[in-house]
Amino acid sequence: MKTVVITGAGGVLCGTLAKALAKQGHQIAVLDLKKEAADRVADEINAAGGKAIGVAANVLERDSLEAAKIEVNEKLGSCDILVNGAGGNHPLGTTSNPFLLEEDLLNTTEGFKTFFDLDAEGIKFVFNLNFIGTLLPTQVFSKDMIGKKGCSILNISSMNAFTPLTKIPAYSGAKAAVSNFTQWLAVHFSKVGIRVNALAPGFFLTDQNRALLTTGDGELTPRGNTIIGQTPMGRFGEPEDLISTTLYLCDDASSFVTGVVIPIDGGFSAFSGV
Ligand code: NAD
Repeated sequence: MKTVVITGAGGVLCGTLAKALAKQGHQIAVLDLKKEAADRVADEINAAGGKAIGVAANVLERDSLEAAKIEVNEKLGSCDILVNGAGGNHPLGTTSNPFLLEEDLLNTTEGFKTFFDLDAEGIKFVFNLNFIGTLLPTQVFSKDMIGKKGCSILNISSMNAFTPLTKIPAYSGAKAAVSNFTQWLAVHFSKVGIRVNALAPGFFLTDQNRALLTTGDGELTPRGNTIIGQTPMGRFGEPEDLISTTLYLCDDASSFVTGVVIPIDGGFSAFSGV
């Protein structure tokens, strides 16, 4: 049994991973900015016979993470596994169209954004949440892992780290930074026995992107259709698709695996479109 800390675990994907790791017998610290969301997942785990605590923590504030660590250490002991799941995009780091056309410069529609309108604050928000939000929890919780056996870190990158998606330069760049950091940290921590790997999920329908990819009546938007057309397996991912790779990377079964970023994307990143 290990103590697993998962950030962003009040959310869709990492909530699923928290429950799956709990089913393996691990005790889970469900960290999230939203305490109620963290508690909801922890309650579900406890009701199913597992052991979990919900902890409020902001991955962008070191003090908040240090306070969370004290609580985790008191209630569950020292951390063996850290899953850096908190992350996401922001509309201010997103262009309205995939390609810039000359006429876009004359478009005065409220909210229409070309590359030239991208807001540095929006870009910083996305880089901070995904990259700094991975770095700080790692600095705080991986100290527990030094000198112990069987410890590892799992970051959540994205398939857009391999090839950027249109419209979301900040999110693509920030996740590329997460993948790059995964390799850097795997090397840096190689002599202290901490493995560092990442998942690169493809498209999963979640609260953040449902409105972008589906219409109110459940049909696909044009972008949703493009995604499915570019996904050889012809579907969105289900949160459960991430479970087996997570269990493998967090288990001693992968004891010689470090610095890998595994796409779980139905073939999206392998497909040239032709
Ligand atoms: P989600 O929005 O359901 O979950 C994210 C959680 O992070 C939320 O509960 C939110 O409250 C929490 N959070 C946000 N800011 C935080 C902060 N500062 N401190 C602590 N917690 C914070 O999103 P999801 O789709 O489950 O995404 C989980 C991870 O997977 C993210 O890193 C995301 O970028 C990545 N991802 C998602 C997809 C997808 O298709 N959904 C694809 C690739 C990668």
